[in-house]
Amino acid sequence: MTYEQFRELVDTRLEAIGREYGELIVFDMDWHDPFSYLPCDVCGRHEAGERYRLTAMRPGDAFNIHDLLVCTDCLLYVETGQVDDFRE
Ligand SMILES: [Zn+2]
Repeated sequence: MTYEQFRELVDTRLEAIGREYGELIVFDMDWHDPFSYLPCDVCGRHEAGERYRLTAMRPGDAFNIHDLLVCTDCLLYVETGQVDDFRE
């Protein structure tokens, strides 16, 4: 996957997640699985590695939250809008 393809895919997925669940936020940075085979909930890639938790919620609706496990690239992309050392 090239970086362009990654960005296109992740933008599309974030839009869909936003429509369905609300805005994605970093709710608990302390939680971090150092090694997982689970696919990333945003980009869907299966590469074993770190997973972080992002939480989707709508403002004022704390009872309806959805946790997503995401890879390092997607975490960076959500936080900063770019991935500097993306590996194709
Ligand atoms: Zn990902």
